[in-house]
Amino acid sequence: MTDATRTQRDGQSLSFDVPEGDEPVICDYCGQPYAREKWLALHHGRAHPAELTDEEIEAFRAAHGSEETEIREFRLRALGGLVAIYFVLLMIYALV
Ligand SMILES: [Zn+2]
Repeated sequence: MTDATRTQRDGQSLSFDVPEGDEPVICDYCGQPYAREKWLALHHGRAHPAELTDEEIEAFRAAHGSEETEIREFRLRALGGLVAIYFVLLMIYALV
């Protein structure tokens, strides 16, 4: 692990553990490292919405849209799993 210490604009110092050999993408506004470009784009939209360039806004919208799709799919799968468990337990209760 490599310790990286960044100083924010407000003077606060933050430290991060970055695994050896990893090349994080760094936020240009606050210096926080992220493992993936998508996570950095989401951070930009959440933490620095007024400071973004058009390209960064487009990246945030794309990342946010794909995140919404993934969350929707997870919710459907979780609901399907719960319904399946409910009916399995119902059948066990009915037969025993
Ligand atoms: Zn930032």
